[in-house]
Amino acid sequence: MRGRFAPTPSGLMHIGNARTALLSWLQVRSAGGTFIMRMEDVDTSRSRAELAELALEDLRWLGLDWDEGPDVGGPHRPYTQSERLGMYEAALAKLEEAGRLYPCFCSRAELAAVASAPHGLGSEGPAYPGTCRCLSPAQRAERGLLKQPSLRFAVDEQPVGFDDGIAGPQHFPPGAGGDFIVKRADGLFSYQLAVVVDDAEMGITDVLRGADLLDSTPRQLQLYEALGLQSPRFTHVPLLFGTDGKRLAKRHGSISLAALRESGTAPEKVIGWLASVSGLIDKPEPVRASELIPHFRLSQVPRTGITVTDDGLGSLLG
Ligand code: GLU
Repeated sequence: MRGRFAPTPSGLMHIGNARTALLSWLQVRSAGGTFIMRMEDVDTSRSRAELAELALEDLRWLGLDWDEGPDVGGPHRPYTQSERLGMYEAALAKLEEAGRLYPCFCSRAELAAVASAPHGLGSEGPAYPGTCRCLSPAQRAERGLLKQPSLRFAVDEQPVGFDDGIAGPQHFPPGAGGDFIVKRADGLFSYQLAVVVDDAEMGITDVLRGADLLDSTPRQLQLYEALGLQSPRFTHVPLLFGTDGKRLAKRHGSISLAALRESGTAPEKVIGWLASVSGLIDKPEPVRASELIPHFRLSQVPRTGITVTDDGLGSLLG
């Protein structure tokens, strides 16, 4: 088994990121597999090198370790997306050759106009209605004079399904989510493209990530197929919510690992709390991450979103 944690260094690591990292690490370590750390800074406009470094420090502080990664190297280096652009370019060339890409000239305003369309997949906004898919070569040339286009991947009109490690069988209707961007007009490669290229090249067999990315999976499966690559097994862990029903990641942005470290909280206390809200132990008692390895079962993790109270969160500080 080869699994990974792939943080985006655009903000501080928060408690929700830590939980995903812990569960992915436990899945791999309990199976005697190889754990990989990958820095997903492909969106260089949002990423910062110092946050990438801090993320690694935070994860080490929690008691997690990795066999391959930006700081320890490995056979699939580099482990930082901004240094892997050649691989994304090669994948794009392959998709282009297969006739799966087209330039899109739609403006933000035009895209916002479809925001109320009902068929969109959550994490990526509304489904693209395909406006630019059928432009003639002449129309493309004409528009290209006025505007740098983004590149979209033309999805297949076929249903997509997979068996999720926690949620079980998942079915998505044909064309779910619409044609998505693989290269932005400003030249940056999209998350969807980079993550597929990297997971395949790094030989990842098991992807465990937050349920907020469940909707990205049918898109990624289509890319695996179009690129002739083997897809990994996917497991999406239910998110943590506050008592007001809002996602913890959004609402309690301030509960960062950096803040917990500064307040003098012991990492064992954080791990104990995360393990308890994830159904791995009965009570939020301090525990080292490594002590959880022998007893870890994915089936212990609740299948639905988990609500945590402010008291529970507050107890972590200091
Ligand atoms: N980089 C993504 C994030 O931080 C995770 C991508 C993934 O696990 O597929 O949300």
